[in-house]
Formats: sequence, structure tokens, C-alpha cells
Amino acid sequence: MKETSRVLSQAYKEGRKSLLETEAKTVCIEYGIPVTKFELAKSEVEAVRFADELGYPVVLKIVSPDIVHKSDVGGVVVDLKDASSVGNAYNQILNNVKQHDAKARITGMLIQEMAPSSTEVIVGALKDPQFGPAIMFGLGGIFVEVLKDVTFRIAPITEDEACEMISEVKAYPLLKGYRNTPPADLEAIAKILLNTSRLVTDHSEIKELDLNPIMVYEKGAKTVDARIILE
Ligand code: ADP
Ligand code: MG
Repeated sequence: MKETSRVLSQAYKEGRKSLLETEAKTVCIEYGIPVTKFELAKSEVEAVRFADELGYPVVLKIVSPDIVHKSDVGGVVVDLKDASSVGNAYNQILNNVKQHDAKARITGMLIQEMAPSSTEVIVGALKDPQFGPAIMFGLGGIFVEVLKDVTFRIAPITEDEACEMISEVKAYPLLKGYRNTPPADLEAIAKILLNTSRLVTDHSEIKELDLNPIMVYEKGAKTVDARIILE
């Protein structure tokens, strides 16, 4: 709670209503929500050094208070397998961002471990003016975007409610495993739902939260992108 309060007041102090991915993930870590390992680089040399330390493949992402949807502006490059690709991606991303918005402030470049692809789920939180924060769950990609196959509960949620949320989406059979796809770690998802509920209950300044996507494995899960919007 302490680290999260510090991150939130820093954002307010700088007049920002939207947390940087680094900040949102720092908050996640404090609340036991698993995220991909990351380092914030301030130069190309540093980016390569961090990539070497994390181990390949890595992902590079722009960190800027002026950019919310990073891949829309060419701000994300995945699956970089060596130092020279990291250097190229670093410059490519800066160019892309400059072309999109010459005045965008650049905080740095995020170097991230590359999460192996798997079943993607999303967890969200949204404040209802009457009932307070609601927790959302669904499977990623077309399930949420096209089919709107999502479910909600008012926070704080119980462990039983977390399990209900997981089993009541239409795509649930995909999580239980099918053909060559092994079952997903439902316990890990339930834990993320509970921790998200705890986070938004503790911090009423959070207006919107979006963990999208979360890669779920046979054992464990990893949040690849986290977005938090403040009141
Ligand atoms: P955006 O701001 O555009 O939502 P994301 O951080 O979600 O940016 O990155 C876009 C996409 O790139 C993700 O949906 C995911 O498919 C992929 N991606 C991003 N980070 C990682 C990572 N660490 N490991 C694996 N894939 C990633
Ligand atoms: Mg995203």
C-alpha cells in the first residue's frame, strides 16, 4: 500500500491522471499481481545492457506520459533476440513516436522479458458511480473485443466470486484445456482477480485499471501490459 500511495501521489504531483506502464506494474507487484520483469532504460547503451541482463528474447516499449496506446504509434517491438536488434528497435521506436507526435515527452524505453504466448485473459476495474469499483474478467482478443464475453462483480470480491467469474464466461472451456492446449492455471487467475479487488478497494483514486493481456500458463500467469487511470 505504501509503494502504491507513493506512485499515485507522484503522478498527481506531476499533473498526470494516467500512470506509466512502469508505475502501473510497480503497483501490481506490491499487490502480488505477477508482471513481466522490466527495466527502464534512458539510452540505447543502457537498453542493450538491461536486455543482456534480462536474457533474450526481450520486448522494447516506449514510456511516455503522452502515449497511452503504445502499439498504435509503433511504440512496441517484441521478440528481440540479440543486442543489435535491441539497438535497432530502440531507434526505430523513437523515430515512430517522433513521427506520430514530435512533442511527445519521452521518459525512457522499457526493456521487458518476453512472455511466451499462451491463452490471454484480461482483468479490469471500473468505477461505477453508484456501486464503486467493479472488477471485470474475460478472455483476451476477439472474446472481449468482438464477442464482449466478459463478466463483472462489485469489489471487494470473495474467493468464491472470483471462481464464479472465471467459470461463467462463455470461453471458459478454453481455459479448462482443449485438444493440444493444456488447462490454464485457474488459481493464478483467481488470485489476480482478488488482488485487483484489494488494490482498487484500498485506493479509491483509481478510476480505471486494465491488465491486458495477461498470459496464463499451466502454472502461473504473467501480466504483459498494465494501465491505470486516476480520478
Ligand atoms: P499497448 O499500449 O499498445 O496496449 P502492449 O504493452 O499491450 O501495448 O503491447 C502490445 C502487444 O505486444 C501486447 O498485446 C502483446 O501481444 C505484445 N507484448 C507486449 N509486451 C509483451 C511481453 N513482455 N511479452 C510478450 N508479448 C508482449
Ligand atoms: Mg495492451
